[in-house]
Amino acid sequence: MDLSSPGAREAAAARIRPMHCRFCGGQLRTSFADLGMSPLCEAFVPPDRADEMEPFYPLHAYVCEGCFLVQLQEFVAPQNIFGEYAYFSSYSSSWVEHARRYVEMAIERFGLGERSKVFEIASNDGYLLQHFVARGVPVLGIEPAANVAAVALAKGIPCEVRFLGAATAEAITAAHGQADLVLGNNVLAHVPDLNDFVAGMKRLLAPHGVITMEFPHLRRLMDGNQFDTIYHEHFSYFSFVTAEKVFAAHGLTLFDVEELPTHGGSLRIYARHAANAALPVGERVGALRQSETNDGFLSIERYSGFEEQIRETKRKLLAFLIDAKRQGKRVAAYGAPGKGNTLLNYCGIRTDFVDFAVDANPYKHGKFTPGTRIPIFAPERIREQRPDYVLILPWNLRDEIARVASYVGEWGGRFVVPIPEVEVFDAPRIAAAR
Ligand SMILES: [Zn+2]
Repeated sequence: MDLSSPGAREAAAARIRPMHCRFCGGQLRTSFADLGMSPLCEAFVPPDRADEMEPFYPLHAYVCEGCFLVQLQEFVAPQNIFGEYAYFSSYSSSWVEHARRYVEMAIERFGLGERSKVFEIASNDGYLLQHFVARGVPVLGIEPAANVAAVALAKGIPCEVRFLGAATAEAITAAHGQADLVLGNNVLAHVPDLNDFVAGMKRLLAPHGVITMEFPHLRRLMDGNQFDTIYHEHFSYFSFVTAEKVFAAHGLTLFDVEELPTHGGSLRIYARHAANAALPVGERVGALRQSETNDGFLSIERYSGFEEQIRETKRKLLAFLIDAKRQGKRVAAYGAPGKGNTLLNYCGIRTDFVDFAVDANPYKHGKFTPGTRIPIFAPERIREQRPDYVLILPWNLRDEIARVASYVGEWGGRFVVPIPEVEVFDAPRIAAAR
């Protein structure tokens, strides 16, 4: 047990019931990141509830000493998180473009056509499947949030509104058959019952079929100091070596892997039935496994020390904001993503430091950030209010946002990103845009 930090000792002493790894069942004893108590990061507060209390839950990630899965305990039922979800994938143009390129690649590489079937788990508002539909490939979305699934349905994308597990997979294959391609982007981390979910994916997959999944890479989270991507909706954080173990336990072999820049650094894994030798295991699988092993991901020491790194980032961000405010500067946040809310709550940043936030998603306009109660407006507010600093909370979109909001340079405004390091930079000069 790592009890090197006082926080870990206190947490261990105070814990009444033991916690167990959601993959291997081992007891969880080693703290990875303790972000204190935090509200659900997508629970934006409407004005008529701004005076009411809201629930806070522990946001404390542990690492399993048996399989090295970094994980949060399930404090909130997924139905409460995802029943009405505020995240519409189509509001990020770079993400929609990423999806389009993926579809081109998948059609080419796996020879998909009008006789194929593509299932997407957590298909959101159809941001990805629409590209398959445009190419005449039959699709089915499986999406638990009724409000985003309704948007996909309106675009003509068939959806099953449900959570995936072994039992629902059985029902889906009974109605729709098995798929040549099963894909899931940024869903594996969100699954509380990991084994039931992977078993469900296997059930959906035709004997010759391929699964692809994209999820944030734990190694990049740690190297990039991306602690704000730890939030209640993300139950699990995977290295490649741990992901490989999870899939292997369900008779699925990872035969290829790519490292992607999306969401601060993600993996795209390619899986097939273990018995399907027609798809040989590519070189990148062994190379990444070896690289992570050399980097210590199969030893518990690799994971300790992350907590102190997080605390130092908090101190640096607060030092910047305290200094800016003492100089009478005005600060606005651009983007109010889930990760931003983790950061704001952990650091204790409210309207004392950030005057207001803007977001491209109209669903959030007029609401307040959970826990910190910062009002959210449409992006035009930046132009009207002319803040001195624009804090980019979705730092993975920093270039996109700095380009879109380059006009802040007109009044000498500058951008700030909190992660991986607090960094202040000038607006890019885009002469032709004006
Ligand atoms: Zn485990």
